[in-house]
Amino acid sequence: MNLHEYQGKEILAQHGVNIQRGLVLDNLNEIENVSMKLTKETGTDWFVVKAQIHAGGRGKGGGVKLAKSKSELKDVVSSILGMNLITPQTSKEGKLVRKVLIAEDVYYPGESETEEFYVSILLNRKTGKNMIMYSTEGGMDIETVAEETPHLIFTEEVDPSFGLMPFQARRIAFNLGLSGLAFKEMTKFATNLYTAYVKSDASLFEINPVLKTSDNKIMAVDAKVTIDDNALFRHKDYQGLRDFREENPIEVEAGELGLNYVDLDGNVGCMVNGAGLAMATMDLIKQAGGEPANFLDVGGTADASRVEAAFKIILKDPAVKAILINIFGGIVRCDRVAQGVIDAYQNMGTINVPIIVRLQGTNADIAKQLIDNSGLDVQSAVEFQEAADKVQAVLS
Ligand code: GDP
Ligand code: MN
Repeated sequence: MNLHEYQGKEILAQHGVNIQRGLVLDNLNEIENVSMKLTKETGTDWFVVKAQIHAGGRGKGGGVKLAKSKSELKDVVSSILGMNLITPQTSKEGKLVRKVLIAEDVYYPGESETEEFYVSILLNRKTGKNMIMYSTEGGMDIETVAEETPHLIFTEEVDPSFGLMPFQARRIAFNLGLSGLAFKEMTKFATNLYTAYVKSDASLFEINPVLKTSDNKIMAVDAKVTIDDNALFRHKDYQGLRDFREENPIEVEAGELGLNYVDLDGNVGCMVNGAGLAMATMDLIKQAGGEPANFLDVGGTADASRVEAAFKIILKDPAVKAILINIFGGIVRCDRVAQGVIDAYQNMGTINVPIIVRLQGTNADIAKQLIDNSGLDVQSAVEFQEAADKVQAVLS
């Protein structure tokens, strides 16, 4: 589950991580109220207005702007709220901005220069440890840093059974070139950030930038937080944080039906049981000159109602020109799946794209007969290659 910046920052703050303070709003009427509250809390009337969408690079797209007075704030908020924001990380259609975060300006001048760092935490699957990645090059995208100046990216591997050790937190602060108060603040920041990551069952924290203010405080100015879906049952209080409007609507619907579906850009819809076979099927489609329109694992029980649900989901994508059903009957019997396909097809009336069904495993021959004798516009195949050839034939 991906979170908005303001939600991610809230979780950080709950675990003692220092953040750039702010308040979120979704209409112009609240500006007066919100800015007054913020000024009271922070002492400044310079604010930064930040579009809340599930994509980074907002600054580049005009979704992050500074306002140096209350009247400027009104103009800036009305220009961002409701805008269609296109960033390097959105599709070319962009995303509608439904909420903005009004935050205190934290780049004020003072005794020292401000500095921007990059800090992220994620699981290193190779070592089975949590990994803190950090860099002196904050504020720009980390992919560019990795390409051009990889020696400026550091990593600290954390054994989950020990947690972040004090010497590790000090090493982070040292490598970032900090000293004095900022050094101490950074060790605290890293320690609390790691705790927040573990306690929230996150799969990703990306804080870019982490800011050293001119008076040597360390704080999160941005927050990209992803919570592990498999751990959501432990966090009932996070339930309301999911913003379905930011997610792919077909994927949301598939999720409600218990189907494992990922939308892709191609033209061949796939219906497969098992994630491994689904991956292999997508390779096969590519080899046959097509592009998979989706990843879809229907799971173990490919009965008529599931097959029908899967058909409906696949056909919501207007790019689909053919559907390949590839089911291995290990526990599930092929003849039952075939009957499911036939029943689902009849229930749906007409399906306007060619369908190729490849059933292999228990009772595969009976299944093929069922399909061939159904009188429906469905082609059967036994071998993988045969299925691929038939996909190629209908596409050309
Ligand atoms: P992103 O572009 O989606 O990654 O959004 P960020 O939250 O990282 O903000 C983009 C940039 O806006 C940051 O890298 C900062 O340089 C700038 N920024 C953020 N907060 C402030 C602020 O309080 N004052 C000023 N002057 N700039 C800010
Ligand atoms: Mn950022």
